[in-house]
Amino acid sequence: MELNEKEIREQICEVGRRVWLKNWVAANDGNISMRLGDEFIITTPTGVSKGFMTPDMLLKVDLDGNVRGGYLKPSSEIKIHIEAYKRRDDKRAVVHAHPPVCTGYAVANIPLDFKTLPEIIITLGRVPLAQYGTPSTTELSDSISELIVCHDAVLLANHGAMTLGKDVMDAYYNMERVEHFASISLVAQQLGGMQPISEPDVKKLEDIREQFGIKIGGSACINCGVCTGTESCQLSTKSEYEDLIEEVTKKIMKELNS
Ligand SMILES: [Zn+2]
Repeated sequence: MELNEKEIREQICEVGRRVWLKNWVAANDGNISMRLGDEFIITTPTGVSKGFMTPDMLLKVDLDGNVRGGYLKPSSEIKIHIEAYKRRDDKRAVVHAHPPVCTGYAVANIPLDFKTLPEIIITLGRVPLAQYGTPSTTELSDSISELIVCHDAVLLANHGAMTLGKDVMDAYYNMERVEHFASISLVAQQLGGMQPISEPDVKKLEDIREQFGIKIGGSACINCGVCTGTESCQLSTKSEYEDLIEEVTKKIMKELNS
């Protein structure tokens, strides 16, 4: 059931409080948003601690980032939220934060693509690393643009992480998963290295994921089954595939017409 505007505003404030309590943001960092209907986004303001927001402080913006309601200014990082919504019509909410352990991986430029935890293989698959982009510029939204098509969580190099969800709580839980995954991976590395789950056992987990109807990636991701680890789940795969179809169609049409 679709949340109404009041519920969305309350959920964003609750998630803001949790993000701050968990030490995933410092001072005024981080931003949270959720779509309202087809036209609008409810989002957090800039210059405010996300731990102390009240529903009236949130803003309503359109999909071009124009403010349509509210007395504060939206975060300049609203661009990555808008990019995610444009790329993923199956997701309604975005959480962006700087949780210390996964941000450590982002600073070390190490993606979280280890096949080590069953629940991560089933839920997120892997968490890729988007190239560094200057915050608040289109460099950042460009850097996530392709990855977000096939993944519900992305590390932002030298910056933090962003997650998507069907609503704000869902996006928040994905951020919890990412930070938990990063923390466990770091401990395993310190204890002498990670032992990946074997490929046949990974396959079993992917089958379970399919049985549960869990889909990683949006409708434009044609290769979701491999989002757990290969690099082939990029948009480039889609365009090559589309090019091939176009070529074959042209040949068939030519033969039919001759
Ligand atoms: Zn940030």
